[in-house]
Amino acid sequence: MATATADAKSRNGKQTATKKWVYLFDEVKLAEEAVGGSWDGVRALLGGKGSGLADMTRAGVPVPPGFSITTEACNEYSAKGQQFPEGMWEQAVNALHAVEVKAAKTFGDAANPLLVSVRSGAKFSMPGMMDTVLNLGLNDEIAEGMIKLTSDARFVYDAYRRLIQMFGSVVMGIADEPFEDLITEAKQKKGVKSDVDLAAEDWLRLTGEFKKVYAEHIGSDFPQDPYKQLELAIQAVFKSWNGKRAVDYRNAAGIPHNLGTAVNVQTMVFGNMGESSGTGVAFTRNPSNGDKKLFGDYLMNAQGEDVVAGIRTPISISNLAAEKKAVFDQFVDIVSKLEKHYRDMQDVEFTIERGKLWMLQTRNGKRTARSAIRIAVEMAEEGVISKEEAVMRVTTEHVLQLLHPQFDADAKAKARKDGWMIGTGVNASPGAAVGVAAFDADLAEKWGKAGKAVIMVRPETQPDDVRGMLASKGILTSRGGATSHAAVVARQFGVPCVCGAEALDIDVRNRMFKVGSVIVREGDTISIDGGSGEVFFGELVRVEPDFAREQYLRKLLGWADEFRRLGIYANADYPQDARRAREYGGQGVGLCRTEHMFFQEERLPIVQAMILSEPNSPEELTQLQKLQVFQHDDFYGILKAMDGYPVIIRLLDPPLHEFMPDHEGLALRAAGLRLMGDRPNELKKVEELMTAVEGLREFNPMLGLRGTRLGIMRPELTKMQVRALFEAACQLAKEGVVVHPEIMVAVTNHANEVKLMREMIVAVANEVQEAYGCSIDYKVGTMIELPRAAITADKMAEYSEFFSFGTNDLTQTTFGISRDDAEGKFLLAYVETGLLPENPFQQIDEEGVGYLIRLAVEKGRATRPDIEVGICGEHGGDPKSIAFCHSAGLNYVSCSPFRIPVARLAAAHAALKEKGYKA
Ligand code: ADP
Ligand code: MG
Ligand code: MG
Repeated sequence: MATATADAKSRNGKQTATKKWVYLFDEVKLAEEAVGGSWDGVRALLGGKGSGLADMTRAGVPVPPGFSITTEACNEYSAKGQQFPEGMWEQAVNALHAVEVKAAKTFGDAANPLLVSVRSGAKFSMPGMMDTVLNLGLNDEIAEGMIKLTSDARFVYDAYRRLIQMFGSVVMGIADEPFEDLITEAKQKKGVKSDVDLAAEDWLRLTGEFKKVYAEHIGSDFPQDPYKQLELAIQAVFKSWNGKRAVDYRNAAGIPHNLGTAVNVQTMVFGNMGESSGTGVAFTRNPSNGDKKLFGDYLMNAQGEDVVAGIRTPISISNLAAEKKAVFDQFVDIVSKLEKHYRDMQDVEFTIERGKLWMLQTRNGKRTARSAIRIAVEMAEEGVISKEEAVMRVTTEHVLQLLHPQFDADAKAKARKDGWMIGTGVNASPGAAVGVAAFDADLAEKWGKAGKAVIMVRPETQPDDVRGMLASKGILTSRGGATSHAAVVARQFGVPCVCGAEALDIDVRNRMFKVGSVIVREGDTISIDGGSGEVFFGELVRVEPDFAREQYLRKLLGWADEFRRLGIYANADYPQDARRAREYGGQGVGLCRTEHMFFQEERLPIVQAMILSEPNSPEELTQLQKLQVFQHDDFYGILKAMDGYPVIIRLLDPPLHEFMPDHEGLALRAAGLRLMGDRPNELKKVEELMTAVEGLREFNPMLGLRGTRLGIMRPELTKMQVRALFEAACQLAKEGVVVHPEIMVAVTNHANEVKLMREMIVAVANEVQEAYGCSIDYKVGTMIELPRAAITADKMAEYSEFFSFGTNDLTQTTFGISRDDAEGKFLLAYVETGLLPENPFQQIDEEGVGYLIRLAVEKGRATRPDIEVGICGEHGGDPKSIAFCHSAGLNYVSCSPFRIPVARLAAAHAALKEKGYKA
């Protein structure tokens, strides 16, 4: 009898009254009791994998027996300076004995050996981060015993060499290359391509060579004692929780570092026992587009990660129906039950051992944005989840990803025709990416961080590559399928990915790849389409997404609209923006900036002439009349596009010098003209212009003559804008269009400013309405973008029917920093070093700016209870800021038209969270 067994007995200590560190898969009830009944608690205790295995066992799914060592044991192990907590090992050995009984095999017994896998599993799945050791419990003597039992020496030595290889690399930290090189060499010598073509004697020899590699690297022999193997493997899993790869991944995915990982020890089942055995992975729905159809791959006569490692090309799961009907039917039955049970799309692992199906893992599957949205919508329609849950399951990131640019179809067709399409692969993660090829993770990371668009190109990817993948715009591999490491990571982080593009001959050493006669070198630009799997040489033109065709997203956002309290408006300066805003579901225009209308080419000279004229002079009037014609058309277009919805129009805001040519340029021109001396009239004009520009110069233009101050100093300009607006409104009203203009004054500090402007606006409005014989439903209000305005909001509200928070300026003036200067120089350093938690120009600073907003809302409503309040700064499109606006009781947020879908969802999330729904 093997020494291991004798040893085991001596180690099999008595059960003491210590904490329970170990749960058999069929003890899930005890685990539930230990955590007070919550399934989330069980997941935290046993890890995602362990709790899933236990839950499947309870549901009667065929799961190879095993047990989990808890995450608490892992944390305790780290806390105790890498020592097993008291009683843990004894409990594990006892559990192993219980498994021996179930499996009718004995660990370490050559006559009838039990082999196990040792698998890590934290609360949240971390793909590829902590590796599994298979076939644990084998040694020289047991291998011989197994050959007697199975009459299959090839299988046994394949299993044994895998153990030495995995144990060597995962547990002892030997690089994989020396092992893989030996296999490659063996195949070359034999003149075969695939691992399956190696025979028993090859694996026997390789097993010997692997042992040598092991001994050379470690300085001692591969441990023959199965219990020693088990002990070291458990320790390795515990340690890997704090390994660099795992820490990096947790940082990237936002998973806390104090959860710990569980260890699962499970009876081995073998997919590599000949052609009636196999192994595979599958998703219950398509993780790429959400289609409700089984999606996955399998390989016959293979073990463990062979399917995902890209060693052989796997077969689509749909083929299993034809090849092994009974197994397939059982499989379909199990996975559809699992999906109903977990109320989400499942990602499962299975193995068929000599015709018998075993389930090895189930978890909520990772998916693309497109897939996430479709699955949420369809599951709600199937009645599996509620509409509220569907809305909570889709993130604002998903929406952004779905609405990111795609390649222009014509450009693509042309590139194909012209021969620039250099390959196709698996469409693993959608999106159009253009970048320069980088052949390793370090370079991809370096270039990516330096702001270059990079496509990382690798034969296949490994966990160590993740940081490079995250810094890349796209990922391209020549090996592996839709479930390969590259594909899984890419989908999770929304990076476009094409994998398994087999035509690409990637030569990492020489930093290039060849496809036919085309050679692509490091630094060359390529384009990949992760949605179609195509790879192009050079840069392809990208186009904006087509919201109209996104039927699932539209349905989901329709539900979101039912739940949200905030209105969603758009910032739109032109009729086309207003139309887009409507198409995306906007309910109004929260900010229409009139200055943009002044910058157009044919108008600028008129604007300049107007500025140069004396205030209130006939010349000023003449120029203003010309401008009014343009303004009229602009307002007509926007109000018409937003038929029935409110449109908030802001009177001219920026300092006038912004419309003038720059002084230095003029000086140069004047110098040239003086030198030539032949065009005195032109010189005179330029000199006049210079004087005018000089006169408009300010030390601090953003704090100077702008906004309402300008409107007061140049009243005719204000009146022209109001007249153009009301004439357009009256004309539309006559045409039967419903208009709700709201006139907004900017950069106000004092209620008296608002009062004066209001009087001016109302006078012109009355005049025009009378002339047209119509009555327009309109409002007059002010922006709140200076601290004094917020603090005196009760007074401002006396003359304002609405407030709109201009959070860009409010942030600048509250912090006393100018954004353009700050972001280039110190602000990002502030955020990086943690002096500021976030960039306050991206996410509202709740403590300071947010305080002013809440104050202004409260004071404004005290004066005028029905005052309408909203936000029109860039923050209006930021999900966290939107949540703040919801909590501050605003009526609406206004953002760029493209951000509207995100804002609709974020507003619904805020409302649902308030009701207790969780993401
Ligand atoms: P990961 O967390 O990386 O998915 P797993 O622990 O799930 O790692 O295992 C890696 C591979 O080994 C998977 O293909 C899995 O199905 C397989 N495997 C794990 N345990 C066993 C077992 N007891 N019998 C057969 N295959 C197993
Ligand atoms: Mg793994
Ligand atoms: Mg797995």
